[in-house]
Amino acid sequence: MLKLDSEIQFLKGVGSKRAQALAKLGIKTAGDVLTFFPVQYQDRTKIISIRDAYKCPQSCIFGKIGKTYERRLSKGLCLLDIEVFDDTSMAYARFFRKKNPYFNIDVFAIIKKTFELGAFAYIYGDVKMETGETLIIVNDYEVVKNRNDKPLLFNKIISVYPATKGLNQKFIRETVKTVLESFCEVYPDISSLIPNFNSIPKLNSSLAIQKIHYPNTLEDAENARRAFALQEFFVLESAILLSRNSVKKNPKIQKYEIQKTLLTAFKNNLEFEFTKDQKKAINDIFSDMQSIYPMNRMLMGDVGSGKTVVALSAVLLVIENGYQAMIVAPTEILAEQHYLTISNILAGLNVEVVLATSTTLKKKNEREKILAGFESGDIKLAIGTHSLIENRIKFKNLSLIVVDEQHRFGVMQKFAALDKAQSPDILMMTATPIPRALAMTVYGEMDMTTITHLPPGRTSVKTYSSSEPLAYTSTIEELKKGNQAYIVYPLIDESDKLTLKSAVQESEKLSQTWFKEFKVGLLHGKMKPLEKNEIMQKFKNKEFNVLISTTVIEVGIDVPDATVMIIQHAERFGLPALHQLRGRVGRSSKQSYVYLIANSKSENACKRLSIIASTNDGFKIAEEDLKMRGPGELMGTVQHGFPEFKAGDLIKDTDIIEFTKSYAAKIIEEDPTLSKNENVVLKRLIHKHFSNKTKLVNVG
Ligand code: ADP
Ligand code: MG
Repeated sequence: MLKLDSEIQFLKGVGSKRAQALAKLGIKTAGDVLTFFPVQYQDRTKIISIRDAYKCPQSCIFGKIGKTYERRLSKGLCLLDIEVFDDTSMAYARFFRKKNPYFNIDVFAIIKKTFELGAFAYIYGDVKMETGETLIIVNDYEVVKNRNDKPLLFNKIISVYPATKGLNQKFIRETVKTVLESFCEVYPDISSLIPNFNSIPKLNSSLAIQKIHYPNTLEDAENARRAFALQEFFVLESAILLSRNSVKKNPKIQKYEIQKTLLTAFKNNLEFEFTKDQKKAINDIFSDMQSIYPMNRMLMGDVGSGKTVVALSAVLLVIENGYQAMIVAPTEILAEQHYLTISNILAGLNVEVVLATSTTLKKKNEREKILAGFESGDIKLAIGTHSLIENRIKFKNLSLIVVDEQHRFGVMQKFAALDKAQSPDILMMTATPIPRALAMTVYGEMDMTTITHLPPGRTSVKTYSSSEPLAYTSTIEELKKGNQAYIVYPLIDESDKLTLKSAVQESEKLSQTWFKEFKVGLLHGKMKPLEKNEIMQKFKNKEFNVLISTTVIEVGIDVPDATVMIIQHAERFGLPALHQLRGRVGRSSKQSYVYLIANSKSENACKRLSIIASTNDGFKIAEEDLKMRGPGELMGTVQHGFPEFKAGDLIKDTDIIEFTKSYAAKIIEEDPTLSKNENVVLKRLIHKHFSNKTKLVNVG
């Protein structure tokens, strides 16, 4: 009499030791077993003749058992070949076993006993041809006495489950079977709420579960998975909507009017016009800010799409109206860079801006001055890192919080809940564009604006994996044309002295060898912000041809003639970082180049480099990044506590996510508290999955 929350430990054949192993897979109850879905399937529906078996790398064969041959390969490894005959040919079914050389145990005893001469064997495994013979490395087998006996594990699709130490497939399959057979509760189901969609079969959740474990065809399995995913996403999207509604209920205190005192001067200060996308973003943001509810908006845009000036517009609207604003960046470097860029843009506007990081807050008298400025309201704009949030810093009337590179904060900080401001407007920005459907889910609580088009005049950058000499030779050609180059060394850790040293030495070496005819500048992480600014300015003014940098040069100074970037140890950078770095070149109509120098044989690193070389599209790169790391990890970093999906796949199920989002909106509009009878199960599921798991969704 199993129920959803029956503890698995008491199930027949489990016991406390295996229960512990199961717990590692996240299985504690019978309900967890039901939704412990296969990671893949083995198609054992087709039995292939031995003669043709080599044509599929993984095959099932069937035949009469012949002689067995045993060999010792090395001290600890033994091999067993068993002849299997069908009407077309003969194959050796091959087993490997480890053997402890100090014990005289026959490691193949059970197999030899099972593979009785003259009986029949079904075998699934990897097929190879070796010196004209067919070999099948056995993955699974079943022996039957007579040719016509029905096998249990063959002629069907077999589920393969995620396994862990101490639990084999057989045990997991049996556990799943026991639970499915003795389960006597109705699995919560909301299929009746959801209309037909995209030829996903109408399956209630119990049936879908059944078919995911025991499909008749691979297509069946995928259909059942999608049917279950439909319900999962429907619950998620409903939860997000409910939470959104609850956030919107509290009106804010601050009011803004567009005065244009600062905004006009700021616009006149810029050397460019806003793009259409930027104008739309500013419009969205201003209308949020002027509404009676606090803004909660995500601004997405690829590297270099110009988010900073959009955010600055919001900041200046706040300051024009006598309030204070804060820009929070995930690292000191980024905070510094913002401080430099923004100080440059706001020069002459008479707005007091302060950089507040653990470094600038370290010295007592400086800290006191800064804190006093925040509290009195004299400092209008604070730019900094977490220390702005975490320290006990008080503001006179903080009303806007801008969070840059939101994804890099890891755990989603609850910026709105800070005690620094009562009902702050919040603008999140991210340059790691993630696939749209995923964004809608991860940032589901927020309104979204995307900057799709980069400012005009950018050219696509050509990116190559390269050797050092080749990269330097090509760079020199560019330098001779009057162009400039960056050479970047990775900074693994902000306090990594070794890297710093080697980059400094390298730069000396390079300036005396390859680049001795050119002027080489050096920028490193230990310099003060103003010093960095000075060097960047000099580079911009062409006092240097080459800039060697140990830090991620993101200082927001445009150097249009920089047409080359060499990235050293490119294998150490992640995809988003490489893409971000590349954004520093290609800033004029001239063709620009990136040379990736890597000496890594890691498959992962090679793949990253080939992806970055193949496309300039930030969305594509983000998607590939997501595929490589797996959504689990992305979820982990983007949004701690984000629910796991049992069947849902954030990459494959984009259509389902979009559909459930719009349909959930309809249901919640009709029944905002989900109190109607037909919505009771939905409400229960939302509570079950979201009420304590995540702050993302706070369901009343
Ligand atoms: P990101 O979105 O990556 O934060 P930034 O805000 O740093 O991008 O902008 C990248 C660069 O583009 C900056 O040097 C900025 O001055 C420049 N820029 C921004 N908007 C425009 C525009 N409308 N026209 C030309 N250049 C622009
Ligand atoms: Mg930026």
